[in-house]
Amino acid sequence: MSYPADPQFQQPQQQQQYGRPSRMNESSLRLVWVYPDLLSTYGDRGNALVVERRARQRGLGVTRIDVRSDQAVPTSGDIYLIGGGEDRPQRLAAERLRNDGGLVRAAENGAIIFSVCAGYQILGREFINDLGEREPGLGLLDVWTTRGEGSRCVGDVLADVDPALGLPQLTGFENHQGVTHLGEGVKPLANVRTGRGNGTGDGTEGAYRDTVFGTYLHGPVMARNPAVADMLLKLALDVSALPPADTTWYDALRAERIAATSQPA
Ligand code: GLN
Repeated sequence: MSYPADPQFQQPQQQQQYGRPSRMNESSLRLVWVYPDLLSTYGDRGNALVVERRARQRGLGVTRIDVRSDQAVPTSGDIYLIGGGEDRPQRLAAERLRNDGGLVRAAENGAIIFSVCAGYQILGREFINDLGEREPGLGLLDVWTTRGEGSRCVGDVLADVDPALGLPQLTGFENHQGVTHLGEGVKPLANVRTGRGNGTGDGTEGAYRDTVFGTYLHGPVMARNPAVADMLLKLALDVSALPPADTTWYDALRAERIAATSQPA
């Protein structure tokens, strides 16, 4: 199979340091959707569907594993997705993921992990749980989450992505009380034009390091931003470009949501 360059996407600058073996010739990508029974608010399930679909559009086989919270998280996945959740399920998910250890081992193996909202907070060092206590996270991202004193961050978001990632503007929906602070070990994923993002008031939204990503955006974020799904596939395959794939449906959704979201000059 030949893979023509796709000028729409640039190669992330960190690509070379990942050192992942190329899976371009292997038959199937292993996509793991973590805890759909606890973490999948606002249709975050759509992220798994879109990553799967974008792979299949390129003729790539995908084996999707949906791991419920009473099951062990496999350590040999290529891409892990973890979604948002209400406060109590979020605490349960954090406890189980800490005890299970599979997601941390997968990260140590260089897996790609993309997390949304509660999932993002769980990947960090700690967050405030539903009991008002400090709950340890997995420490996969150098971020920590406190409870916002003001109103919840709710509404549509537009954000400009770190240029190093070569992605178009992100559109999504946020709904969270947590305020996430970024340490030295991560970079902001994006900067908001509209919306609150990390909620710290500095305009940052989400965080990432190497192949571990966190965002507050639902929507689901992959359906509104298929270039994010493509970025994960490129990282998993260790390629700088993918064959073009039809984006008609996604483009219509993006255009509609971007037009509906006020964009300050
Ligand atoms: N429970 C978390 C908060 O409110 C995350 C919410 C979510 O995932 N939508 O901050």
